[in-house]
Amino acid sequence: MRIAVVGTGYVGLVSGVCLAHLGHQVICVDNMAERVEAVNGGVPPFHEPGLSELLSAGLGEGRLRATTNLAAAVAASEVILIAVGTPSAGGRIDLGAVEAAAREIGQGLRESPEYKVVTVKSTVVPGTTDTLVRGLLEQAAGKPAGAFGLCMNPEFLREGAAVRDFLEPDRIVIGQWDAASGTQLARIYESFDCPKIFTGLRNAEFTKYASNALLATLISFSNEMAGLCEATPGTDIAEVLAALELDRRWSPVVGGVRVHPEILAYLRAGCGFGGSCLPKDVAALCGFARERGARARLLETVLEVNALRPAAMVAQIEQALGGLQDCRIAILGVSFKPGTDDLRESPAVAIMRLLAGAGAEIRAYDPVVQSLDGVVPAILTHSLEAALSGADAAVAITPWPEIVAADWGALAPRMRRRVIVDARNALDAAALPAGIRYVGIGRGPGPRREDELGKPESAGD
Ligand code: NAD
Repeated sequence: MRIAVVGTGYVGLVSGVCLAHLGHQVICVDNMAERVEAVNGGVPPFHEPGLSELLSAGLGEGRLRATTNLAAAVAASEVILIAVGTPSAGGRIDLGAVEAAAREIGQGLRESPEYKVVTVKSTVVPGTTDTLVRGLLEQAAGKPAGAFGLCMNPEFLREGAAVRDFLEPDRIVIGQWDAASGTQLARIYESFDCPKIFTGLRNAEFTKYASNALLATLISFSNEMAGLCEATPGTDIAEVLAALELDRRWSPVVGGVRVHPEILAYLRAGCGFGGSCLPKDVAALCGFARERGARARLLETVLEVNALRPAAMVAQIEQALGGLQDCRIAILGVSFKPGTDDLRESPAVAIMRLLAGAGAEIRAYDPVVQSLDGVVPAILTHSLEAALSGADAAVAITPWPEIVAADWGALAPRMRRRVIVDARNALDAAALPAGIRYVGIGRGPGPRREDELGKPESAGD
């Protein structure tokens, strides 16, 4: 099929490149000329595993191109996907980019006699597609919905695994204005053998928010339990959650083998959730509820618990060092999660800002983030060795494989003080060499069972 994708960010570019890989003819549209130029030159504007190869193939085989000319892309397409950003502004969703895209697409529809389906892929609050977007499209097109198709098709891809998630979806949700709209949109996903749920526009919009709200709730639940453990001598959240997970309802035993579903990755204590989706989507849902005279009390608390995590981490670092002024702190991992260079709402950035504000000097390392200029006053180094040289503490934040598997026997001697704060409980504390002070999350004060058993886990320096 002929497809236009409006917005060439994480969702738009991954969708466009993968749809071209599936054999469709795709035009990616963005209003940032340098982004369009980079894409046409085969250079993805962000780090995403597997994207570069598929982009080159799509360009080389003539199935993909990028442009700033939205009108021409609409004219050439049967399906138009809106994948522009929907940031959070003051606790509400900012729909400015969706509105601008809808107006321009509507003008394109006016000039074309061909039936085309406009599909909102951006995350928008329930009611946006059938009121705001439909209204703008109808006004600009000069014809009612029905004369053109209208769908809402939420995207569930995860940065860091976005190409795989797009090409191997667990389900495709198609919110449709009418059956003709959904039928035409579904043709772009014809080759996928997964459940396809045809539903109303508002259910599709709500599904995305409900998914992200649940994930955020699991994370804040784990962090709240960790906080309670920290106030309870003799407890350790890692052991508590490990035992909790063995409930068959979380990790079923199938054919005698225990299955560990990926959802368990959200039942871990850490320094909080970040990224471009969970914080803004939960905030948008809370704002949406307030506007309707309702309250999303649980989700407001989920955000509150999350907002406290960076300061809680910094308090742990300060306690371990006896103060932060003039200390040199190595931050290991700054993207909001492994597999991406996305810094949006990254807990590492929040932690670095607090540390810098308390007078600490920061040397950060991340395998893919290229710059921290204008983000946080920190020196970005290009190796673990450089970040750790002369450091008073190492704070392991983003669990990239090279950080989780770092050779502390070789690295620790470079440090001024051998203190490791494990902001995601991702390191194997028991495997650390003697002489390192290890500070994990969610461990109650006082001696722990391991210490009583004589394991060398928390030897002082
Ligand atoms: P992004 O900020 O990375 O990209 C948005 C792109 O849209 C930018 O390149 C911007 O220049 C472009 N744009 C803005 N207005 C435009 C216009 N009028 N015309 C043409 N281009 C325009 O955003 P993203 O992370 O890809 O997210 C897009 C949407 O998908 C959001 O609603 C987000 O919540 C949702 N989403 C994101 C993810 C994710 O992991 N990032 C996952 C699922 C859903």
